[in-house]
This record gives sequence, C-alpha cells and structure tokens, in this order.
Amino acid sequence: MIYDANNIFAKIIRGEASANKVFEDDEVLAFHNIAKAAPTHVLVIPKGDFTNFADFAKKADVIKVGNFFAKVAKVASMLDLDSSGYRLISNIGADASQSVPHFHVHILGKKKLGGLIAGDNSH
Ligand code: AMP
Repeated sequence: MIYDANNIFAKIIRGEASANKVFEDDEVLAFHNIAKAAPTHVLVIPKGDFTNFADFAKKADVIKVGNFFAKVAKVASMLDLDSSGYRLISNIGADASQSVPHFHVHILGKKKLGGLIAGDNSH
C-alpha cells in the first residue's frame, strides 16, 4: 500500500488539522479519538509514513518500534489506566475495517471492555 500523505492523521501531524492531544514528542503523537468507543479512547501514532502495523514492523528499525510501544505504555500510564487495565487495538487492512491509512494504536479503557471482538464474549 502506498502511503497517502493526505490522510487525516498526516494532516494532524503537520498541524493542518486539529486534534485534542495528550502527548507529543519528535517521534510520536497521541490524541483523543473523535468518536469514542470507551470513556478513554486515545490514538497513538508514529510521525512517519507508515500505512499500518505491518508496514511499520517491516520498515521501521527495531529501536523505533521499541520506542513507539514504550511510549504507548507511557501514554496509558498518563491516562491513569495502569491499575484498571486497558486494551490496545490496531486494525490492519480490509477485514479489520482500518479506516485511516496511517499506523495507529487505539488505547481503550475506563470501562469493562467485554469480548475480544464485537458480539463475541467467548475468549
Ligand atoms: P481505524 O478504524 O482503526 O482505522 O480507526 C481510525 C479511528 O480514527 C476511528 O476510530 C476514528 O474515530 C478516528 N478518527 C478519524 N478522524 C479523526 C480525527 N480527526 N481525530 C481523532 N480521531 C479521528
């Protein structure tokens, strides 16, 4: 998949679209999801041209990948989710209904999140 530099998250990184930011540094940006699926629903994205998790894992060096996930954990701590718990989701491609073609991790918390997949409580 070719990276589309006009996707909404690329615009947020460049400051061309607004976001309710919770954390930002040179490599990572975290902001509240505009359509919350839980009381806390934050998206964490790397500041690079990566279309999804698979693309990120393939193209980013291991230090960048490690730093990214360390910052995801840091943001979850900042959101006071360590004691109550939380869920990470990253949708990749059509079957997962990925809607924004820039790699992102959803952090969801502050409610009982139920089954692993919508309508499925069997796990
Ligand atoms: P996904 O379906 O995994 O690609 O998730 C994309 C997410 O981005 C959705 O949950 C949207 O609600 C969220 N989203 C789309 N546009 C924005 C925006 N401008 N600010 C914050 N979240 C957004």
